[in-house]
Amino acid sequence: MPPGPKRFLFKNIALAKPSGAVLINQDILVEDDRIISISHSKSAEARAATTLSAAAAAAAATARSFQATEIYDGRGKLALPGFYNLHSHVPMTLLRGYGEGLPLKKWLFERVFPFEALLTEEDCYWGSLLGIAEMLASGTVSFSDMYLLTPGIARAVRESGIKANLSHGYSTAPKSKGFSDSKAYEGTRFLIDAARADKSGRLIADAAVHAEYTFGEERFGRQIADFCRREDLRVQIHLSETKDEHEACKVKRGCTPTAFFDSCGLFDTPTIAAHGVWLEDGDLDIFAAKGVSLAHCPVSNLKLASGMAPVQKIIDRGIRVCLGTDGAASNNNLNLLKEANLASLLQKSLTGDPLALGPAKLLELACRNGALAQGRADCGALEEGMKADIIVFDLESPRMQPVYDPLVSVFFAADSRDIVLTMVDGKVLYKNGKFTTIDIVRVMAEAERIRDEKLRRLEGK
Ligand SMILES: [Zn+2]
Repeated sequence: MPPGPKRFLFKNIALAKPSGAVLINQDILVEDDRIISISHSKSAEARAATTLSAAAAAAAATARSFQATEIYDGRGKLALPGFYNLHSHVPMTLLRGYGEGLPLKKWLFERVFPFEALLTEEDCYWGSLLGIAEMLASGTVSFSDMYLLTPGIARAVRESGIKANLSHGYSTAPKSKGFSDSKAYEGTRFLIDAARADKSGRLIADAAVHAEYTFGEERFGRQIADFCRREDLRVQIHLSETKDEHEACKVKRGCTPTAFFDSCGLFDTPTIAAHGVWLEDGDLDIFAAKGVSLAHCPVSNLKLASGMAPVQKIIDRGIRVCLGTDGAASNNNLNLLKEANLASLLQKSLTGDPLALGPAKLLELACRNGALAQGRADCGALEEGMKADIIVFDLESPRMQPVYDPLVSVFFAADSRDIVLTMVDGKVLYKNGKFTTIDIVRVMAEAERIRDEKLRRLEGK
């Protein structure tokens, strides 16, 4: 007889609805990879659950009625849909902290690029696992990534159980014949096949344009736009991250980076643009008309002194805004909770309005908006029928006590250590500091080995 569906019951837990409203004493029943019911815990059971033994009895009774295979005692806990990290370069965990304290160009050309030139697929696999572990432990259930050596990253995604939209960044080489002649084309084709072979739907192939300042003629833009339409791909791109890049484009091409890529037809395909610090009103018109989503990366923007994106203004234009960390080399964490907190503080300061980007809005940016921007319509909300991507905060953490409004506690008081469980597609991947699919001791040892090996080669020893 084939095994029955696998069930997991969160019992007596508080949960945040997509509106930001928090319901208490809820039962969330997960069957295989989906939430199949959300209901109020029976009031008699809730009363009985005032003692541990009574709670165990109630849980056992519920287990029989639901045939649940696993029950999680949710008292004192809050469930949220997991976070979506919409901009990362995950293997760059291997460069976390490398070459700090140098000016931007020196750091890139004398540290980052020579280090990256030595990376192998195997290195990227270990670096990705390290980044994925950090993301799972800080509540991220899905990420969008732009890098190279994508087979190593895809392998880490498959093995770890996290979700990801992976892409290979396209920069045009000086004598390039076109997109189909590029390494990015090869990398993207690999990802398309890998995503097709992955029946779970967790792995999605995206295309990626690195940025305007590493891009040649308009015809290359048309080629990748045509390719995306043919293959039904989304696009990731760095856009107007720094003032220099934005202004230089206007001098060189006579228009902003957004207007340039729009003229190539790139935004006729769903696009996630990272940063957008220097977007102008005309650029926002294009974003609104073409449905481009913005991945706001506040920590990276502050750390690299790129500036502060006018996110509240962008939201007010009806543009979808999500959150991203950027790579660990320019952050130096992959912690979306930190991004959400900083995003809110920055907008309060920029707008002079202490109500800007409140907790309900942050929930939307961090969860549902990210899922929609990745093309995952059945993710990013705790509702019946949605994918079971669920993270649990311990409301009894001293950092969050006493609790008046649980979402305020999450976004303004908690840190990622208060996340005690991360579930992706109905599978618990992280619980109470332990990973169920990642050998974190081995991963850290490999990261140290890779660091030592690269440093030896870079320093010619
Ligand atoms: Zn980036």
